Amino acid sequence: MSELVPLHNEPKKPAGAFVDAATLADGATLEADVVVIGSGAGGAVVACELQRAGFDVIVLEEGGHHTRADFKMREDINYPMLYQESGARATKDLGMTILQGRAVGGSTVVNWTTSFRTPPRVYEHWKKAHAVGEISIADLSPHWDAVEERLHVEKVPYEQTNRNNRVLFDGATALGLQVDTTRRNVKRCMQSGYCGMGCPVDAKQSMLVTYLPDAVERGARVVSRCRVDKLVVAGGSVGKAECSVIGDDGYNTSGKRVTVRARRFVLAAGGIGSPSILIRSGLGGGMVGRRTFLHPVHGVFAHYKDPIEPYYGAPQSVASHAHAERGDDPGLFYEAAPMHPMLAAVATAGFGAVHRQLMEKLPYVAAHIALAIDGFHPSEEGGTVTVRPSGAPLLDYQTPLRIRQALREGVKWLAKINFAAGAEEVGFGEFPMLMLRSDRDLSLFDHYDMGKQPLFSAHVMGGCKMGDDPKSSVVRSKDLRHHTVENLHIVDGSVFPTSLGVNPQESIYGLARLVASRLVQSWKA
Ligand SMILES: Cc1cc2nc3c(=O)[nH]c(=O)nc-3n(C[C@H](O)[C@H](O)[C@H](O)COP(=O)(O)OP(=O)(O)OC[C@H]3O[C@@H](n4cnc5c(N)ncnc54)[C@H](O)[C@@H]3O)c2cc1C
Ligand code: SF4
Repeated sequence: MSELVPLHNEPKKPAGAFVDAATLADGATLEADVVVIGSGAGGAVVACELQRAGFDVIVLEEGGHHTRADFKMREDINYPMLYQESGARATKDLGMTILQGRAVGGSTVVNWTTSFRTPPRVYEHWKKAHAVGEISIADLSPHWDAVEERLHVEKVPYEQTNRNNRVLFDGATALGLQVDTTRRNVKRCMQSGYCGMGCPVDAKQSMLVTYLPDAVERGARVVSRCRVDKLVVAGGSVGKAECSVIGDDGYNTSGKRVTVRARRFVLAAGGIGSPSILIRSGLGGGMVGRRTFLHPVHGVFAHYKDPIEPYYGAPQSVASHAHAERGDDPGLFYEAAPMHPMLAAVATAGFGAVHRQLMEKLPYVAAHIALAIDGFHPSEEGGTVTVRPSGAPLLDYQTPLRIRQALREGVKWLAKINFAAGAEEVGFGEFPMLMLRSDRDLSLFDHYDMGKQPLFSAHVMGGCKMGDDPKSSVVRSKDLRHHTVENLHIVDGSVFPTSLGVNPQESIYGLARLVASRLVQSWKA
């Protein structure tokens, strides 16, 4: 491929803007130096850094451009508006609910702001087991420094934790388990508790209010309601993206089509999204869609005598990694989860009067989650993404027995932690619901059928694995370039070869900024 000359050397640089695809003419063709598909953690950072370096960038995003005025702190309004499949995305067997964002800003618009760098042992493992040879923690560190400054990532003081998080901290401390407050990407957070429905005061430093406006200010165009159906590949490179415009209902296509041409393409549609675009583009096979990991989650609820109000305050501000490394067994980590009425009603077992009684106790409920760290044992191969006849993605994830067993230990620990913090009773599961009155009841978990309990995940990782062996990966580690398509890079959570053992957003930001800096260097050379 010939050298890519940034458009800033030319007289007609297009003005930056947020553009609703519905305002474009049917059959319109757009052109840019670089097209970035997806505007979440990976896409926004890479788009901003490339535009900053002088390349003309277009970002294509399937979701709408919603801003703080649209964030109504209402589950019934904001879940359908901001989540994939209205918040009801699930694995093929419906055994696991998968939360993923779908909006300008991607999942960062709805995430709970917990910010961790990738643990060093994860890259060490990837180097040994997955031939990730050209990215290290030392390479990433300056990029994390820069991202943390831009996103205002700061540690939460204990005094600012809500009671839902504080009982996790206090219970773990009483048991002598490692626990700490987390860091969050927020500025002047008013502790509303509504991160999962979009921040109504722009305190959350998501991509919507940081890297995307930065990119637009420098000339990037962010086109919302524009779903990439496929990339058209000829002669070993992508020539254009063919897109459908999403209609006024926010989900179905309006019938309008848009084509976007560029010299370079960056796929950043996230886990599930990126592999499904490759498959629809005839670039499936091999490792595409495979090794999709989820940090499968089980949660417990605990009743306290005094109010907890799990719907108010920063949703996640405490985490324990006491059991992140358990030898050959899958690691675990523990966090809090916010409980708003709709989510609580869905997650609460039982029907009629029983359900009502439990719901009446919501102000006194603490909700905590155990997340299993999947993908580190050779037998944990993760899920596989395919596409349905309609073209929509489908994830098949069979939760390995060893992950279920690990989660059994995890929920047992969460029960212990809650009793140590003064809980009156701890509940778990649905079929049937367990209700423990004290530590003496912990053995109830031992013979409980974990296989029947619904799981959930908000951390989709993998599906377009990076690595330096083309047989066992989709993109090379140096610059996340597709092994065979010379002008296609994949820069999002889908490139991770395993899960991370920490909440993923900051791992993706740092990686995206590092890769963008390498792309700028090589494209300008
Ligand atoms: C409820 C929730 C809470 C979370 N809490 C935390 C947390 O506290 N801390 C943390 O670190 N992580 C958290 N996460 C996870 C974190 O936000 C994600 O891991 C991260 O944003 C993933 O980045 P990404 O770039 O891979 O994908 P995303 O941020 O999901 O962005 C992908 C984008 O691509 C778009 N897209 C998909 N297909 C197409 C297509 N065909 N055409 C055009 N656009 C397309 C999607 O609409 C989406 O906007 C949370 C996630 C959720 C859902
Ligand atoms: S808790 Fe803070 S960051 Fe989250 S929605 Fe409320 S004000 Fe925004």
